[in-house]
Amino acid sequence: MKGSQNTCPICGEGNLNAKISKNIVEYKAHSTQLDTHYSVCDTCGSEQANSEQLRANKRAMVAFKKQIDGLLTGHEVRKLREQLGINQAEAARIFGGGPVAFSKYESDDVAQSEAMDKLLRLAISVPSAYTQLLLNSGIEDRPVRGWVKAKQIDMTAQPQKPTVSRVILKSHPQLDSGWREAG
Ligand SMILES: [Zn+2]
Repeated sequence: MKGSQNTCPICGEGNLNAKISKNIVEYKAHSTQLDTHYSVCDTCGSEQANSEQLRANKRAMVAFKKQIDGLLTGHEVRKLREQLGINQAEAARIFGGGPVAFSKYESDDVAQSEAMDKLLRLAISVPSAYTQLLLNSGIEDRPVRGWVKAKQIDMTAQPQKPTVSRVILKSHPQLDSGWREAG
């Protein structure tokens, strides 16, 4: 089966067979194993990667670097944006970065700057900050799903004082009547 896309461009004869191998990569003294996509010609044996395979390899590396640098992953940026209820174009208007910025962040084509990363985290955890950014961008306000969650993980929140004893007395009629009989 010889398709034009599958024919080896080096020998012009063989078929390219897609392969994935594990490669160790290093970044800032951290190493990990990443999948590397490439093809091998069944006739001349040359190894090569097409643009799709190169893109997949690059995305895996960018995702690894984001993880080491403590940046939101592409998946996390997408989740955050969806919690805010905005599309990629609106996100660019609100946060900056250019019209295709969020498409690139979310697919791990590029890493967002540290400043952008901090702005995104601020927007999802501080409603008034996000409201101000929305106002500045001229995009109308809409419900944000992320805020309840952000509030729940607020480490500075004071624990509520337990009111258990009162609740038990009020919610047990038998206990109430027992008290009345005793009194
Ligand atoms: Zn070949």
